Amino acid sequence: MFEKVLIANRGEIALRIQRACREMGIKTVVVFSEADREAKYVKLADEAVCIGPAPSAQSYLNMPAIISAAEVTDAQAIHPGYGFLSENADFAERVEKSGFAFIGPTAESIRLMGDKVSAKQAMIRSGVPCVPGSEGALPDNPKEIIAIAKKIGYPVIIKAAGGGGGRGMRVVHTEAHLINAVNMTREEAGRAFGNPEVYMEKFLENPRHVEIQVLADTFKNAVYLGERDCSMQRRHQKVIEEAPAPGIDRRLIAKIGERCAEACRKIGYRGAGTFEFLYEDGEFYFIEMNTRVQVEHPVTEMITGIDIVQQQIRIAAGEKLPFKQKDIEFRGHAIECRINAEDPVKFIPSPGRIQSWHVPGGPGVRVDSHAYAGYLVPPTYDSMIGKLITYGTTREQAMRRMRIALSEMVVDGIQTNIPLHRELMIDPKFAQGGTSIHYLEHRLEEQAASRGDSRKAK
Ligand code: ADP
Repeated sequence: MFEKVLIANRGEIALRIQRACREMGIKTVVVFSEADREAKYVKLADEAVCIGPAPSAQSYLNMPAIISAAEVTDAQAIHPGYGFLSENADFAERVEKSGFAFIGPTAESIRLMGDKVSAKQAMIRSGVPCVPGSEGALPDNPKEIIAIAKKIGYPVIIKAAGGGGGRGMRVVHTEAHLINAVNMTREEAGRAFGNPEVYMEKFLENPRHVEIQVLADTFKNAVYLGERDCSMQRRHQKVIEEAPAPGIDRRLIAKIGERCAEACRKIGYRGAGTFEFLYEDGEFYFIEMNTRVQVEHPVTEMITGIDIVQQQIRIAAGEKLPFKQKDIEFRGHAIECRINAEDPVKFIPSPGRIQSWHVPGGPGVRVDSHAYAGYLVPPTYDSMIGKLITYGTTREQAMRRMRIALSEMVVDGIQTNIPLHRELMIDPKFAQGGTSIHYLEHRLEEQAASRGDSRKAK
């Protein structure tokens, strides 16, 4: 096992990785930007290295600075967390070339899955069901593009092969708009992602977002840890996640989960990963794979009892998975609310000093956050300041505990989206379970309309 791990991230996930390491008796090195100098997890680390000023490009995305921090502290491995450099194949390569273990998949796997066209083709070869669409990237000939759309059937969605973060997509409802939309998406994709390749998919009108968590070791053992429902989204950003996904046949989950595990074996995947699907009318359609730990990993940990971050570290150290698929049991239900420093109605970021911070507790309540009273939320980064997770024997119990937890939670000095979570936890549609990816946006639009806002909530 490693003696020392460098954490190339910040905020709640830096603290989460630090906790995993400390429990395993591994020393931690935290790298931080000038904006994060005062953070408590920086002080808790065995060693801390400042890697640059606040802007990410000069700190958390600064590969040479991070690698030299690992060199001067004698760390043996680097955990990239999520966001920042976590899905950057060049970084993974440079880390390994410099003699450190990268706590994540190989650069080759990151590259394969980072290009959505090659990812989809790899999934089709592995028998994972995908959204019906073009075979690979779209050709140049407009006649051929029109024929492909006709075969798929409108509406279709044009997506950039290199796209991410909900950008580089365009929905087309009629043939008259098709070629123009393809050209515009190509142009944007070339500019934003340095890759003008686009592909086409059937646009699903009312799907849910359901994803499968996997773990794979370097000995071709791979398991799935069940699914998460992350349909409660705003602008393609997840707001609430839960596991298991309400109302989906367990046999179907087992079938899709096994396909994902098999795909990992086929492509030689290692580490933790997530296969994201759209789920509509009882069918799963692959959309993309995330080759890293995800924000919402705790809900899976709560229902399986498996520490995903520790497993990532063990796999990177060359250990075999300590369990087989049949050993994995799913118990109870878990819900996660992402706590963001933002206006709960207009969603404008609300950085600043937290005056009071009171977190809930009790049975089945978990808080993953690096914040505290007196903590200054910097304006530079993502607005998520923590995650509130509750567990229950049933979904109803997890929801009840979440309502109580949210009623106990106090954050003063900045605005947060806690009021929105309080409303959603008593929303009858959410209580029923199984709302689509559009539900939250529609709800916000209706509320904006009833407030008489001229601007739409969107
Ligand atoms: P990104 O990498 O930018 O997150 P994804 O491929 O994961 O892109 O898609 C992001 C979101 O866009 C999905 O969660 C879904 O809301 C929507 N989306 C993508 N593909 C389709 C599709 N074929 N039909 C309907 N919605 C889609």
